[in-house]
Amino acid sequence: MNVSIADKLENVRKRIQKATISAGREANTVELLAVSKKKSADAIIEALKSVQTKFGESYLNEALSKQEQLESLCSEADYAAIEWHFVGPIQSNKTRPIAEHFHWVHGVDRLKIAKRLNDQRPANLPPLNVCIQINIDVEESKAGIALSDLDELADAVSRLPNLCLRGLMCIPKAGQSEQALSERFQQMRAALASLAAKYQSVDTLSMGMSKDLEQAVAHGSTIVRVGTDIFGERD
Ligand SMILES: *Cc1c(COP(=O)(O)O)cnc(C)c1O
Repeated sequence: MNVSIADKLENVRKRIQKATISAGREANTVELLAVSKKKSADAIIEALKSVQTKFGESYLNEALSKQEQLESLCSEADYAAIEWHFVGPIQSNKTRPIAEHFHWVHGVDRLKIAKRLNDQRPANLPPLNVCIQINIDVEESKAGIALSDLDELADAVSRLPNLCLRGLMCIPKAGQSEQALSERFQQMRAALASLAAKYQSVDTLSMGMSKDLEQAVAHGSTIVRVGTDIFGERD
C-alpha cells in the first residue's frame, strides 16, 4: 500500500497533537518541520498542498536546486510562504548560500560559523534564526557542543546583530533506552529554560524525529523535525 504524503502528514500531525495533550501542554505549541532532504521538489509540492510550510534540508546543493525548481513551479505567494530550515552539518566555505537562502539554521556549533553567517546575511533580510546544536550524548563523531560550553557560545552568538538566537537543537544517540532518551531530553529542556531566562529571543527547542517525536514533545520540544514518517524511507 502506497500511503500518500498528505495522509502521512496528517498522521504525524495527529501524533504531535496527541503527545501535546498527553503532556498537558497547550494545543498547537509544537511545530512540524518536514525534513525533505533527498526527496524531490514534487514531494515538497505535495506537502505544500497539505498546508505544510516549514521544510528542512541537509545538503546545500540539493536544497538550492530544489528551491530554484519550486520558485518556478509555485506561485510567488506560495513560494514566499515557505520557511526553509537548514538542518545539516555546516562547512565554513558553504555559509554564504546558507545565509542567503534560509530562514533558520539548526546546527550552529562554532563561533566561526556563526560569525560567517552573520557577516554574510544579506542586509535586506531579517536576522537569520539560529539554534545552537548540543551534542547531548557526547558522541565523538557528532556535531554540537557540550552543555558546559553553551554559555560562552550563546553569549557570543547573542551579540551578532544579523543572527537571532532562538534556542537549542539536538540529535540524541540512536538506539538508547527510553529512559536514557528521556534523561537527555530533560537535560535539553533544563538548558533551554536557563537560556530563555537570559535571552528574550530564545523560545525554541528543536528535538524529536520520526521515531522519538512523542518523547521529545513530552519533554518540551517546540519543533519536531520529521522526514521518514512524512516522505518515506530515504535511499
Ligand atoms: C534527517 C534528519 C531528520 C529527520 O529524520 P527522520 O528520522 O527521517 O524523521 C531530522 N533532523 C535532522 C538533523 C536530520 O538530519
